[in-house]
Amino acid sequence: MCAFWDVPTTVIPAVREMGAGGEEEIDLELGPGDDGAGAAAPQFNPDTHVALMEQHGMKPNPRKKKKVVKKWRDEWAETYKWAYVAVHEGTPRIFCSVCKEYGRKHRRNPYGNEGSRNMQMSALEEHNNSLLHKEALRLQMASKDKGLGLIDLRPVFIKAILQRDPHELEFIQAVQEVVHSLEPVLSKMPQFVHVLERLLEPERVIIFRVPWVDDKGEAHVNRGFRVQFNQALGPYKGGLRFHPSVNLSIMKFLAFEQTLKNSLSSLNLGGAKGGSDFDPKGKSENEIVRFCQSFMEELYRHIGPNQAPDTPLGDIGVGPREIGYLFGQHRRLTSQYEGMLGIKGVQWGPSNLRPEATGYGVVFYAKEVLADLYKDLKGLRCVVSGAGKVAMYVLEKLITFGAVPVTISDSRGYLLDDEGFDYGKLALLRDIKVHNKSLREYTKIYPRAKYNHDGKPWSVKCDVAFPCATQNELKHADAMALVNAGCQLVIEGANMPCTVEAIEVFRKSKIVFGPGKAANAGGVAIQGLEMLQSTNLVQWNSEDVDIKLQEIMKDIYQKSLKAANDFGIVKGSPEVLVHGANIASFLQVAQAMLEQGCV
Ligand code: NAP
Repeated sequence: MCAFWDVPTTVIPAVREMGAGGEEEIDLELGPGDDGAGAAAPQFNPDTHVALMEQHGMKPNPRKKKKVVKKWRDEWAETYKWAYVAVHEGTPRIFCSVCKEYGRKHRRNPYGNEGSRNMQMSALEEHNNSLLHKEALRLQMASKDKGLGLIDLRPVFIKAILQRDPHELEFIQAVQEVVHSLEPVLSKMPQFVHVLERLLEPERVIIFRVPWVDDKGEAHVNRGFRVQFNQALGPYKGGLRFHPSVNLSIMKFLAFEQTLKNSLSSLNLGGAKGGSDFDPKGKSENEIVRFCQSFMEELYRHIGPNQAPDTPLGDIGVGPREIGYLFGQHRRLTSQYEGMLGIKGVQWGPSNLRPEATGYGVVFYAKEVLADLYKDLKGLRCVVSGAGKVAMYVLEKLITFGAVPVTISDSRGYLLDDEGFDYGKLALLRDIKVHNKSLREYTKIYPRAKYNHDGKPWSVKCDVAFPCATQNELKHADAMALVNAGCQLVIEGANMPCTVEAIEVFRKSKIVFGPGKAANAGGVAIQGLEMLQSTNLVQWNSEDVDIKLQEIMKDIYQKSLKAANDFGIVKGSPEVLVHGANIASFLQVAQAMLEQGCV
């Protein structure tokens, strides 16, 4: 039996009793036909069978099913070193000793029935291999190692999502990272355990149909989402994403991250995220207009000053063009101009720096990290992924600071210019992307540059990496490639672009890692400044906003360091910025939630 088993002492005798009494048949939630013997059961009447055998002077065989079930249970104990048997609602069941749930609860059976034995076994195996189970296991072991006991006793936050949404992988991944960082906080401040449990459940999830008609007159339907995750700190604010991959798990992970990110920005904003599985690529201008109008036709019922104050911003697939159409339709439906302050296009909105804010903020954040390492961006080779709003402005600011950005990428491949991009080359890249052409076009003008179809830029020699495309774009092998390429610092421009395994590689290789929720908080920070401008009727110019953005990014960096330090994570540790950002943002939201009561 493994040392980490958490079998309640009251349970063990119950298991032995069942074995000792000879009554080996345990309800493993087998349905009819679940094992070899059971498969024949519906046609098989044991009483008639025994009577017939006795008539012929034969000794009846014991029921095969019992043996099989016993064998299976033994196999369980051997193979799945995480199970224990306990009685639940009068029936003995096999429980996961880590998550404290019985097997059936962990099962994902696409057919909705009990399933075959193999199906159950593989479902259990799947559970055993799930990120969530592993995280629960890791937490349990960590808390035992440290003698904390608390998490061991109350893995409520893990259980809550495990029970409800075991298939939401991106959301679970985002939660995992945060829960990992919060171990020292929860052991010192147990009052926040319940708050965390509540925090993991979004306040409101809106899912709606978005019907629209294409230019040929054909009808289409997409799914729209708005996840209003948490408004303990202020009105909801967060982007909209239009991309075919959009689903509830991605929406929830982004809304959760946004809640923490907004908290870090100190601007009293709640977190939300939304979007649709609509793909704007290849659609005509009229189709985009019709889709945006249909999307807002439903969304406006749930946002704005008379409903939940909620300000959508841009994200993947949603830029100033889409924001403009959405805003126009919202204005038309509500007859209000100020209701959705955040969704104004740059031409008619108050800020002079909004589109650039996220990308610029990422570079300002990197500058702060480097300054603490007594380094400067000037002359450093940087690899950047993505070719969208964030990536382009990261590139622009890197050029301004004298760094040498050498790559850019999109969903089709990556481009390497060993001489580095400059403003002129950047203008060309923008032009290529605006016309939805391949990055390969660049090599026609700059033949020494190389385009790699289907490739990723992570094996290119560099000092700093900025993943700015999408979630989980940088995996374990990519992280290894970056280490081999000499990378010293990774700053996330996108939301959760690095997988858990990649971050582990950085940790082991002592590569400093800046998480997206801190590094890309510039966009939302500028939104907060816009609100101030609007209420105070102040108009800042680009330089003013640029200076304020630098101050905000510096503040986020310092706040993260301090929070980590308060909980014993020292500066210089490769994980300090992740843990610090998670702790600082969580404490702010959690304190507000605690003070506002159980709502
Ligand atoms: P965007 O303008 O739509 O650009 C996304 C870029 O990533 C595009 O170049 C796209 O390629 C590329 N891409 C998408 N999926 C990819 C994949 N699976 N593999 C490789 N490349 C892929 O979006 P964005 O606004 O820059 O957002 C990028 C990231 O930053 C997202 O994670 C977003 O959540 C985060 N973020 C954005 C903001 C903001 O204000 N916009 C703020 C904070 C965080 P194609 O050009 O081929 O489509």
